[in-house]
Order: sequence, then structure tokens, then C-alpha cells
Amino acid sequence: MLDALALRAQFPGLSGSANGKPFVYLDSAATTQKPLAVIERMDYFLRNEYGTVHRGLYARSVRSTQLYEDARATVARFLNAEVDEVVYTMGTTDAINLVAWSWGRAHLKKGDRVLVTGMEHHANIVPWQITAEITGAELVACPLLDDGSLDEEAFDRLCDERVKLVGLVHIANSLGTINPVQRLAARAKRHGALVLVDAAQSAPHLPLDVKTLGCDFLAFSGHKVYGPTGIGVLWGRRDVLASMPPWRGGGEMIEKVTFERTTFAKPPARFEAGTPPITEAIGLAAALEWLMALGLANIAATEHALYTYAEARLAEVPDLVRYGQAPQRSSVLAFNLALPGAHAADVSSLLDMQGIAIRAGHHCAQPVMARFGVPATARASLGVYTTRDDIDRLVEGLLKARTMLAM
Ligand code: PMP
Repeated sequence: MLDALALRAQFPGLSGSANGKPFVYLDSAATTQKPLAVIERMDYFLRNEYGTVHRGLYARSVRSTQLYEDARATVARFLNAEVDEVVYTMGTTDAINLVAWSWGRAHLKKGDRVLVTGMEHHANIVPWQITAEITGAELVACPLLDDGSLDEEAFDRLCDERVKLVGLVHIANSLGTINPVQRLAARAKRHGALVLVDAAQSAPHLPLDVKTLGCDFLAFSGHKVYGPTGIGVLWGRRDVLASMPPWRGGGEMIEKVTFERTTFAKPPARFEAGTPPITEAIGLAAALEWLMALGLANIAATEHALYTYAEARLAEVPDLVRYGQAPQRSSVLAFNLALPGAHAADVSSLLDMQGIAIRAGHHCAQPVMARFGVPATARASLGVYTTRDDIDRLVEGLLKARTMLAM
């Protein structure tokens, strides 16, 4: 088990106050605070090692290139993948857009289907709708059960030979549901569909192994794994990436350019046009090294215990309705106070006055809100630095908010 209290000392962003009260940060599903290991690594790189990559022949650029490519190897180790299967992107959204634009336009046609779950983030819906519009393919969503888990019988029915790609969120940011990716991927493979896993929420909480998951693509964001914004990863199976045309043209992604014709670099360079987020890649690798040193299995076990504690404590708040009770769930606690006129935004504002940061809204998952018949929910989410004391403050804050809203 990890000691969250001890870990907090490594996060300067958690110290201090908000609205005159000690700061409680419960919005790690949106973005995580950064450990010194990341802040100091990026600072050192910018002060001492920074230079462009892949172009310069001078020592500084060679060093920078080496660190940038070493960072790719760290990502590969984090995912149990091969180095040339790791494509740097700007984040999860960018990674899924890459697949939808490049793979989707090259491989989808009228009559084909892309099957996603009813609990996807908009990032795994909208790119497919845009691609469907262009290719004539159809986007289909698998329904959810009342507890927020996937209706697997419906999934089995929907997953037929028309489905060419299945998009699965690993942990749903709106509900906390953990999808059985391995089982669903195996099911999808029976008809030869490719499987894309949105690991934006799972990467900071669960051990990831692309070989065990049995997927073809996996996407995650740097800023949710305690690393910087502006960088993320698309992992793709080598042969699948090789079958994909470029999506953005420019420097770095070419082999040879003439005005008549351009030939393209092999993956991953083929998908990385332009000067990349160099410092951010170094910061991402520092974050992943830091996470791996803590141990993802340790993190999962520690957070599971805290999650159980948080659920038990939230159950003490009268009128609190929870969303997302799937048998396998983690890290995200969505709820509303069922009082007349009490919107999730009011709950969030009243907590903010007490120094407590949670998220309120549709969480970029409007279909989930529609499924549960609410315009919005309040959401508290956990990180490695979340303590029982944070949860106690939340519960205390909610009890106060309830009194005020009931007046
Ligand atoms: N998928 C899920 C499940 C998410 O939680 C998020 C971020 N809220 C995204 C995709 C998009 O990630 P990003 O904004 O970093 O591209």
C-alpha cells in the first residue's frame, strides 16, 4: 500500500489554500497535479539539454534527440509495447482523431460500422461521426445497464461482421465503470474488427499491457498520468500502423519530397509532422518512470481501498444519489444532491467556497447524462495523493452544502 500523505510532499500544487481554506483537490480525472520528479526534470531539460530533435548535427541536438527517443522507449515499457509502435500525439483526443482520420478514411466504407460503448467520452464519439459522414460508415453505440456497466448481451448482438472497429473506454470518466476490455476485444476479434482502447482514465490507475488487453490501438494523455499537457500517446500494432496513410503533412514525416511526389517515413515518424513537443515528451517519460517506480498494481490496490472508503462515507450524506455502480469501478465518484433546484454546479460552487475542488457538468459524456436522465453530475475523482482526510472534507462539505441548498 502507498502512503498518500507522504506522496503529497512531492506535489507543490497541492499545498496552500483555496478560498481561505486548505486546498482539497478532487479533480484528478480532469487533470492531475505534477510531482517534483516531473517539474524538476522538465526544468533541468530546458535549462541544460534543450535543443531541436532529429535535425541538428551538433551535440545539443543529438542529446535532445536521444532523450526524446529514450522517452519513447519508456512509454513502450509502460505499455509492454514495441518502441516503433509508440506515436506521440497531443493527447487522447488527438490520438483518436489520428486513427479516425487516417485508418478510418483508408479502411471504412458504406455498410461498415464502428461500434462504441454508450459511456464513451466525446473524444471517442465525435471523430468517428466526422469520419462516418465522409466514408458512409455508421457509428453504433452499445447500451448501458442501469448500474452503469456495459450491456454485454447487446454488445455480443451488435458486434457482427459489419463492425470494422470497436472503440472502448477502459475506465469511464463519467461513471468510473471499468470495462472488461480483454473479453470485449476477444469478442470483437471473432469478426476481425480492430479494437481501440481509450485509456485516458485507466493509464494513471491500472497496470496496462497492450499484449494482454488484445487491442490494436490504445490512447492516453500525459496530463492525466502526472505528466505535462500537450503530449499524449497513440500506441498502434505495428502492421496496422504500417497500413495507415499520413494524416498531417509537413516536416519529419517524409522520406523524400519533390514537387511531383512525396514518399513518407515509416511509423511512428509518419504520424509526427512538425517539431514535436520535445520538453513534454521528456516530462511524460519522467512521469511514467515515477508511476512505474510506485508500481501500478500498488496504486490500483491503494486507490481501491480509498474508493471503498469514499463510497461508504458518501452513503452517509442524505439525498445523495450516486451514478455508476458497476461491479468493477474505480477512481471516479459521480453524484447529485436530489434536492429541488440543486444543480451539480451549485454543489461544486458551495464546495469551492470550502476549498474543495470537484468537477460539475456533463464531463464530455452527454450520452451518459441522457442515459441517466440528468443534465449534469458532480464528480469527485481520486489520485495517488488523495487521502482519507480529503474524503472526510468532501463529506463534511457536502453536508454543509446540503443544508444551504435545502434552505
Ligand atoms: N477519454 C476519456 C475517458 C477522458 O476522460 C478524457 C479527458 N477527460 C479524454 C478521453 C480526452 O483526453 P484529452 O482531453 O487529454 O485529449
